[in-house]
Amino acid sequence: MSVVSRLARRNALLTLGVSAVLSVLLSQLPLLNSLGYEFSLVMGVLLPFVLGIYWLSDAVRKIQTILLALAVPPLVMLVNTLFVKNCTYLEGLLFYVLAPVVGAAFSVALASAIESTATTRKKTWFACLYLGVLILPVFLRVYFSPQIFFFNHIFGFFAGSLYDDAIEIDERYFIFRAETLCLVALLLFWTSRHHIGQTSLRVLPALAAICVVGLELKSDDLGITSSYGHIRKTLVPIDSAGRWFMDASTSGIKKAVFRKRLELEIADLARVIDLKHVAPIQVFIYPDAATKKKFTGADNTEFAEPWTRTIHITESSFDHVIRHELVHILFGEFGDAIFGASFSVGLLEGIAVALETPSVDWTSDEFSAAMFKLGFAPSSPETLLGGFGFFTTLSGRSYTLMGSFVNYLLDAYGIETFKALYGGASFESLYHKSPTELIAEWTSAVAQIPVPPDLESTVRFRFERKSIFQTECPHAVAVSLKRGAAALSLWKHDDAEAFYRRALSMTEGKHASAALGYVNTKLLRAARSERPQSDSLFTETFREADSLIRRVEKPVALEFAVANALLWSKSRQMDSAAALLQHIYEQHISFGYDVAAVKRLSALTAGVDMSIFSPVVSGDFKDSLIQVELSALDSTSEKFKLYVLLAAEKDIDAHRYSGAFARLKTLTPLSARELELHRQLLLLDAALQTERFREAIEIAETVKQLSQLFSSRAAKMQLIDHVLQLYNVASAR
Ligand SMILES: [Zn+2]
Repeated sequence: MSVVSRLARRNALLTLGVSAVLSVLLSQLPLLNSLGYEFSLVMGVLLPFVLGIYWLSDAVRKIQTILLALAVPPLVMLVNTLFVKNCTYLEGLLFYVLAPVVGAAFSVALASAIESTATTRKKTWFACLYLGVLILPVFLRVYFSPQIFFFNHIFGFFAGSLYDDAIEIDERYFIFRAETLCLVALLLFWTSRHHIGQTSLRVLPALAAICVVGLELKSDDLGITSSYGHIRKTLVPIDSAGRWFMDASTSGIKKAVFRKRLELEIADLARVIDLKHVAPIQVFIYPDAATKKKFTGADNTEFAEPWTRTIHITESSFDHVIRHELVHILFGEFGDAIFGASFSVGLLEGIAVALETPSVDWTSDEFSAAMFKLGFAPSSPETLLGGFGFFTTLSGRSYTLMGSFVNYLLDAYGIETFKALYGGASFESLYHKSPTELIAEWTSAVAQIPVPPDLESTVRFRFERKSIFQTECPHAVAVSLKRGAAALSLWKHDDAEAFYRRALSMTEGKHASAALGYVNTKLLRAARSERPQSDSLFTETFREADSLIRRVEKPVALEFAVANALLWSKSRQMDSAAALLQHIYEQHISFGYDVAAVKRLSALTAGVDMSIFSPVVSGDFKDSLIQVELSALDSTSEKFKLYVLLAAEKDIDAHRYSGAFARLKTLTPLSARELELHRQLLLLDAALQTERFREAIEIAETVKQLSQLFSSRAAKMQLIDHVLQLYNVASAR
C-alpha cells in the first residue's frame, strides 16, 4: 500500500471514529441522549466542522466517507433507544437532517470553494470562516435585534430559551434550509467555475443568488429573523416618548395603568439602588406568549437585555415579573462592559429576586429556611453562584436561595459593596471573607427562622419534584400539551382531548398539566352539550377525574378544577365539592388557593348562585345576576357581602378602581379571615390606583393587623411596606 493511500485510509477512519465517539459521548448526557432537537443542535455545531476539515485532507472516496460519517450518529442513537426512551425518533431524524446534514453540505461546499481558491493555509482559512459564520450572525442578532432564537447556515436552528420544551419543526426551518442549499449551490459553482465556461449552466448561480437575496430581504416577514421595526408593526407605544409598547387593541385605561406602574417601579428602584439618573428603557409587553415567541423565540420565559436596555414580557406576567426584569436592566451599569451582566449567575438572578415584588405568601428567607430544613438546598450552596450549579439545581430553587443570600449581603454589608461585587470584584477584596464564609453566615442566619407546617407544605408544592418521569420525552409531552391548549382555544374538543390523552399516556397518567387539560376539555364539552347528554358526560368526567387525582403528582390544580366544576355544573355532589375544597384549603399551598377555596365554601353555605363560577357563562350574565341578587338582599348578610366581593373583583380586573373602592369601602367585614384580608388588599389596591393616599394608609394599618392572624404574617407585612414605598406613601407607623 502506498504512503498516500495509507494516509487517506487513516483520515477516513479518523473521521468516522470522531463521528462515532461524539455520538456515544452525547448519548451519555441528559437531554442529549435521544435523537431530537438538542442532539441535532450540538451535532450541527461540531460535525460539519469535522467533515469540512476532512474534505481538505488527503483522502480518496471523500463523499462516501462523509455520507457514512453522517449516518453513524442516528444509528448510534437508534441503538441508544434500547436504554433511553425516545417517543419521536422519526421527528428527531428530521431535526438531524435539517441540522448537521444540511450544515455538513454547507461546510463541505465552503471547504471545496476554499480548496479551489486558496493556495496555502487552506484549513486555517476554513476554520476562520467556519467560526465566522457560526458566531458572527448570532452575536450581531443578540446585540442588535430582539431575537434570542437563531437560524444559522451551519447548525440550523436554535429555539431560544432554555426553559421552553415545546420545540417543533415548522415551515420557517424548511425555507431557511432552502436558502442554505442555494448558498451551497453558489459555493459549488464557484468551485467549478473553470469547468463551466460559457455554457447555459451559468444562469443557475444567478438564480441561486436571487433566491438568497430575496429570502434575506423577506426574512423578517417569514419569521426567520426579527427586528424592533417589525415588532412596532404589531405593538404600539403607550408613553409619549415611544419606548414602552403594548398590543394595538389595548384600551386607553389599561395603557394608563401599565404606564403608571412602569413609572412607579423605575422611580422606586432608582431610590432603592441609589441611581442619580436612569437612562431610557424599552419595554415590549406582548398580548400573549405566542406573539412573544414569534418575535423573540421566548415562550414561557420573560427576559431583559441590559446591553440594549430592553425588556420583553407577556402581559399576564407583567404584574409579578416586571420589577424583576427592571432590576436586571438597572444593574446593567454595574455589570460587565459588553452585556451589562454579572459573570456570576447566582448574583445576577439573586439581586433581581432580592429586589423583585415580594410574595404575599412567604419571604424568600422563609422559603430558604424551609428548603434547608427539607434538604431541598444543595449541600454546598456556594455552587449556586456559578452557572452550572445554578442551572442544574431543580425548579426555581436556585432563584429563591440566591435571592435570600443577596438579601443578606444587602442587609449586612450595604448595596454599594454589592454593586462592586456584581461588576466582578472578588468577595475577598470587598468583604474580606470568602464566598464560603459569607454563605455560612447567611445559612446560620436563615437557620434561626422557624418553619411552620404551612410553610413546609408551600415549599413542598413549589419546589419538590418526586419522580423523574418528566425527563422521558419532555419535548413530545410539551408539544402535545401546547397543541391541546391551541385546539381547546378553538373549541376543537376532539383534537384537544386526543392531544391531552397522548401526553397522559406518555407519562403513565401522572402529568398534572396533561390531566388538568384533559379534564377541562371534557368539562367544557359537557357544558356545551344539550341535556341529557351533558349530564352523562359530566358524570363520566367526574369519575375519570377521580382516578386521575389519585395518580397525578401535585393534583391541587386538578382537584380545584373538579371542585369548581361540581359547583357550576350544579351537580348533585355538593358534599364532594365541599370536601375537595376543604382538603385544598387545609394544605395552605398559597394565599391565592386559600382565598379561592374559602370563597367557594362560603358561597356554598350562603346559597350564592354557582353559575358565577362557571367558565361558560358570559360576563354580562354574571353582572346582571349580581345586580338582581344585590337589590334583593340585606346588606349585612354574608351572601350580600360575597356578591359585592365578586363584583369588586370584576371591577379590579377591568381596571375600574373607583367602582371597586366604592363597593368594598362600605362593606362590613367578611367572616372568613382569608376573605376579609383579600377584601382589604383589593381595597388598598383600588385606593392607591385612584390616589386616595390618606385612606390607603389607614387600610394598610388594617391589613397589618389582619396579617397577625396568619403564620405567614412576615411576608404580608413586607408586601404592604413595599406597596406603600412603591407609591411613595409614608406608613403611619
Ligand atoms: Zn432574572
